[in-house]
Amino acid sequence: MSDPFDVETGIVGAGYAGLSAALFLRRHRIKVTVFDGGPPRNHAAIQVHGYLGLRSTSANELIAIGRRQVDELGGRLEGCRIERAETIEGGFLLAGSNGTQWRVRRLLLATGVRDQLPDIERLDEFYGRSVHVCPHCDGYEWRDRPIAVISWNESSRDFASKVSHWSRQVTLLTDGRSPELSADDRAWLDQKGIAMRTATITRFEGRDGQLDGLRLEDGSVLRADAAFFSLGEECQTGLAQQLGCRLGESGSIEVDDEQHTSVDGVWAAGDVAGDSQFAVIAAAQGVKAALDIHRTLAPREPESHPA
Ligand SMILES: Cc1cc2nc3c(=O)[nH]c(=O)nc-3n(C[C@H](O)[C@H](O)[C@H](O)COP(=O)(O)OP(=O)(O)OC[C@H]3O[C@@H](n4cnc5c(N)ncnc54)[C@H](O)[C@@H]3O)c2cc1C
Repeated sequence: MSDPFDVETGIVGAGYAGLSAALFLRRHRIKVTVFDGGPPRNHAAIQVHGYLGLRSTSANELIAIGRRQVDELGGRLEGCRIERAETIEGGFLLAGSNGTQWRVRRLLLATGVRDQLPDIERLDEFYGRSVHVCPHCDGYEWRDRPIAVISWNESSRDFASKVSHWSRQVTLLTDGRSPELSADDRAWLDQKGIAMRTATITRFEGRDGQLDGLRLEDGSVLRADAAFFSLGEECQTGLAQQLGCRLGESGSIEVDDEQHTSVDGVWAAGDVAGDSQFAVIAAAQGVKAALDIHRTLAPREPESHPA
């Protein structure tokens, strides 16, 4: 009887988690298709930091190398977004934005999170160069230099405090919003030497990707060599919810130690699965998921064994 499945494993998301999983699955000679719905979360980053072995590789270069490796091993990359996923007998049916459908036996969701970006003029010129999201990733490059922190939600105090690990010259900017901070929080910021400004930011100033300040609504410029923002993020869990995967309190997909979700045959890895949000952790989770998927498929013949 012919195999009713088009692919053994479908991977939704061609970022760090998805491509790393695909690499390992192909090395186990398991048929893989990776559905690539767009650039990874850190596509603007001109250097990926904290990834052992990398020095000055941009996110786009790293992902391009990963894609090539998967391709060279015979993995398929489909440039399309998966819009719908449903359970069928023995697997899953995926519907792509290009109208094509695929039947996959195992499914890995590696769809990541999406950041809320500040609506400030000239962001594109500086984002990923001197305007960042993650102080753990990029704080070191701006140590002991003036840094602006853009945030107004309930975590703004802790976020500014985190950034102040790298510099004593930190200013918290709430971009025209009333910050969600108690009197105690404000006193605490004061004590830490973190200034706060509530004026609206009209644009980033600087050249060639290097920030030198943020222009405020009164025309003044707050000097800063770098800015970090924390405005919120959205876990890309639409497909997980269609399949009935349980979500955790933070809104990410709940997984066990092997990255398996609450739905049989569905794994999740990377930022969408809720652990610390780093490229290297996403990649490692992709590998864990791949090994577990391989374990569940192991009794099957690998593709190149004779029938
Ligand atoms: C500006 C910036 C800089 C960063 N710098 C660093 C750094 O220096 N070091 C570090 O370790 N981490 C860094 N990070 C964090 C890092 O980017 C993430 O931890 C990492 O991208 C997570 O990998 P992932 O595979 O889970 O998700 P992603 O890399 O975001 O990949 C998810 C992919 O899934 C795709 N997708 C989503 N839904 C669908 C769908 N329905 N169908 C098809 N495709 C879909 C998305 O388009 C995306 O390509 C940075 C983040 C940002 C925002």
